Amino acid sequence: MPTPRLANLIDGRLRAPRADAWLDIHEPATGAVFAQCPDSDATDVAAAVDAASRAASGWASTPIEQRAHLLHRLADLIEARLETFAVLESRDSGKPLSLARRLDIPRAVSNLRYFAAAITAWGSESHATETGAAGTGAINYTLRQPLGVVGCISPWNLPLYLFSWKIAPALAAGNTVVAKPSEVTPCTAALLGELSIEAGFPAGVLNIVQGRGPSVGQAIVEHPQVKALSFTGSTATGARIASVAAAQFKKVSLEMGGKNPAIVFADADLSETNLDTIVRSGFANQGEICLCGSRLLVQRSIYETFRERYLARVQALRVGDPDDTDSDLGAMVSQAHYDKVLGCIAQARTEGGRVLCGGEPIQLTGRCADGWFIAPTVIEGLPSSAQTNQQEIFGPVVSLIPFEDEAEALAIANDSRYGLAASLWTQDLSRAHRLASGLEFGIVWINCWLLRDLRTPFGGTKQSGLGREGGTDALHFFTEPKNICIRY
Ligand code: NAD
Repeated sequence: MPTPRLANLIDGRLRAPRADAWLDIHEPATGAVFAQCPDSDATDVAAAVDAASRAASGWASTPIEQRAHLLHRLADLIEARLETFAVLESRDSGKPLSLARRLDIPRAVSNLRYFAAAITAWGSESHATETGAAGTGAINYTLRQPLGVVGCISPWNLPLYLFSWKIAPALAAGNTVVAKPSEVTPCTAALLGELSIEAGFPAGVLNIVQGRGPSVGQAIVEHPQVKALSFTGSTATGARIASVAAAQFKKVSLEMGGKNPAIVFADADLSETNLDTIVRSGFANQGEICLCGSRLLVQRSIYETFRERYLARVQALRVGDPDDTDSDLGAMVSQAHYDKVLGCIAQARTEGGRVLCGGEPIQLTGRCADGWFIAPTVIEGLPSSAQTNQQEIFGPVVSLIPFEDEAEALAIANDSRYGLAASLWTQDLSRAHRLASGLEFGIVWINCWLLRDLRTPFGGTKQSGLGREGGTDALHFFTEPKNICIRY
């Protein structure tokens, strides 16, 4: 049977790449090729940008209710095929199918619905201005206008979720889109593209060009007709995009890497549920979530007892076939990433770290015998300055770091070039507020993790991000404000 091939979505039609070049898509759990995705190039991007440019004014003047209606319709179509999407997402990324069912796909649906609703509720500011002369004045009001064609570039770890997190506000705000999902996990975005035709989006409003970063991504970034770039991915790629965009004065929103701390104080409520959340915050999605806490800071007075309880839980996590409902962790997304994570564990040993559990690949049998599985790994004994505690590993690896007091916890937590998210476990309300204010991170969770409200600003400080997504921040990013002043 021939390998199934995905298509680009350009100008409302599904198309093969012009050069007829293809990339193999592997199933991480088995290592086998199960599909091919277009290995598109700059000519495909140019066709997509051209279609998006032609569609821009029509879409910008489409009534907000109609734009919202189409987003809701797309959300309904995805929800109706939730199982198909979840199976594809799991096969493509190696994540447990149960997680794709519970988290990735429902949240993608929520993203579309949220921005459909948000745009209809969004108003603009106006100001009455006194001129000083009796009976005269001025009214200032602000128009928020779409930018035109925008580029959306997303990574492989939460493929449909992060793809929809970008295209939904971009489309809701009246822009036309040229989007590129990761070439490692292209399947669910391709299916979303097909459903956007069924939903009734006009041709050219949403274009999806599949392919590699340095060819397709770069071509989107460089294209002069693309007015703004919304990117999620690694800090290295974000820096490259920022430098190209700067020369053309393009707006950029960059969501990048993280090295997040989870901080546990002696006064924390370490109930079974909270301990489960702390474990999940390190190992959910095999640690391949930008928000995972990979540095676990524990107050020294409870360090030993906490470590024992924590390790028992981590060792009980089941790494297995993503299709099995009792698998807590699936496979690493690719051979390259699997090698990178194992290399980081080897480096931790070289740096003098003690591997308390895991630290090895896991050899499964049957259909998963050739999959890229790694045991959940906990390391201790490394200073904050060690590479293991500084570089983003983005895998099932957590480093335990003891601390004495609040001041030391804050210093260690902030000792990072990243600043995406921190979580804090304490029952002392004053301490929680103090630390939340002092932590140099875009998101601080107190006694919880990954509790998301789509209305809140999402993003990081330092080398984790530039700008914010979510809520009205996303709508601000995807629009240009224009102030109009009328004298009376
Ligand atoms: P990546 O930077 O390799 O790729 C991300 C996307 O950028 C892909 O679509 C890729 O094809 C494209 N790309 C690569 N080179 C490009 C170029 N020169 N020009 C334009 N586009 C290019 O990242 P990844 O490995 O796919 O994802 C993992 C990274 O994403 C991790 O660092 C993780 O922390 C980060 N991430 C951040 C967030 C966040 O919200 N801050 C969320 C998820 C993932």
